[in-house]
Amino acid sequence: MNRDFLEEAGWRPVMAEAFARHAAEGLQPARVALELNHIYRLWTAEGEVLAEATGRLRHEAAGRHELPAVGDWVAYRPDPQAASPPATGTPSGSRGRIEAVLPRTSVFTRKVAGSETKQQVVAANIDTVFLVSSLDRDFNPRRVERYLLLAGQSGAQPVIVLNKTDIAGAHVAEAIDAIREVARAAPIHAISAKTAQGLDTLAPYLGTGQTVALLGSSGVGKSSIINALAGEDVLRTRSVRESDSRGRHTSTHRQMVRLPGGALLIDTPGMRELQLWDVGETLNQTFDEIDALAPACRFRDCRHKSEPGCAVKAAVAAGTLAADRYDSFLKLQAERDAFEARHDERAMQEEKRRSKIMGKALRTRLKEKGR
Ligand code: GDP
Ligand code: ZN
Repeated sequence: MNRDFLEEAGWRPVMAEAFARHAAEGLQPARVALELNHIYRLWTAEGEVLAEATGRLRHEAAGRHELPAVGDWVAYRPDPQAASPPATGTPSGSRGRIEAVLPRTSVFTRKVAGSETKQQVVAANIDTVFLVSSLDRDFNPRRVERYLLLAGQSGAQPVIVLNKTDIAGAHVAEAIDAIREVARAAPIHAISAKTAQGLDTLAPYLGTGQTVALLGSSGVGKSSIINALAGEDVLRTRSVRESDSRGRHTSTHRQMVRLPGGALLIDTPGMRELQLWDVGETLNQTFDEIDALAPACRFRDCRHKSEPGCAVKAAVAAGTLAADRYDSFLKLQAERDAFEARHDERAMQEEKRRSKIMGKALRTRLKEKGR
C-alpha cells in the first residue's frame, strides 16, 4: 500500500489504531473527496476510486451523522470485478463499497431544510478553518465573533483572516485591535488576495496533508484567496476538468482540491451555504440568558419584540437583562430571519437538483466500469 499517498491525503499514523479492526477484515482506508447523492469519489492508496455506501451502512448511519461526507476517512472494500485495466482518460478503473466511517477529528453540520432537528454533515476532518472578513465597509467584529462560535463547535482550529488590506489604508491596525477583543486564542492575519500581501503568513496552516476550509460572508474574498493560494484559477480549472465529453460542465462540484503546497482545501456548496445561516442557529446559544427567560413569555413562539406578556422585555425594563444585550439579540435575530428568507428553500432546492444530475452521471460511470 502506498502510505505516502495516504499521508498526502491527510492520513495520520494515529488513525491506524481506529482502522485496525477494518484492516483485519480486508478493508482499505480512503478519504472522501466528493459526494453526490450517495456516490463517492475516494482518494485511496491506489488512486481514485468511485464508491457507494453499503446498504447496511446507509441503514445504520442514517440519522446518526455517520453517512460519509467530504473529508471523511472511510473503510472501503475494493470491488474485485472492477480490477480490469483502467479505461483511458479516467484516473482509475477501480470502484468499491464503503463499509464504515472512521471517527472524525472535526465536523461541520447544518440543519436540514424544513426540519427543526435533523442535521446533515457538511464536511469532516478539517484541521484549520479560515474565518474570512474584509477590511472594507462590511467589517464587523460581531460577525467574526459569531463565526468563531460556529468554528468552536466544529472542532476545527479557527484562524481569523482579514482580507483586502490594500484598500484598508490606515485602518488595519485599528481593525486588528477590534478583532483581538473577540478573537480569544485564534491567530489573526491581515492579507490582500489582490496584491498577495501577507498571504505567505498563512503557510503554517497549508503544509502537506493539512486540511483547510474557508468560512465568511459572500463578497469578503474567499474565492479570490483560494485562487491566490492555488496560484492559478482553481475554480475555473476545476470546472473545465469536470466537463463531460460534450463540453458541458458542472462547476459547483469541485469539493476537495489539493493546493500546490500540498494542503487540501475543502470547498463544498454546503460549506458555502453555512455562511450566516448556521451562525443564526447559534442565536440561542449566544444569548443563553434570553433563551432561559423565553419559557416565561406568554407565547411559545415569542420573538421578544412587541408581543404582550414578554418575559424578556420585562427583564430589560426591570434592569435584570442588559439593554445592549437585548439590542444585539434583536439585530442578530433580524439578520438571521432575512438571511433565511432569502436563502432557505430556493437554495436547497437548487443544490438538490444539481446533485441529482451529477449523481446520475457518476452512477452511469460506476455502472460502465463494472462491466
Ligand atoms: P467571495 O464571495 O467571498 O468568494 O468573494 P470573491 O472572491 O468573489 O470577492 C468579492 C469581491 O472582492 C471581488 O470583486 C474581488 O475582486 C474583490 N476582492 C477579493 N479580494 C480582494 C482584495 O484583497 N482586495 C480588493 N481590493 N478586492 C478584493
Ligand atoms: Zn418574549
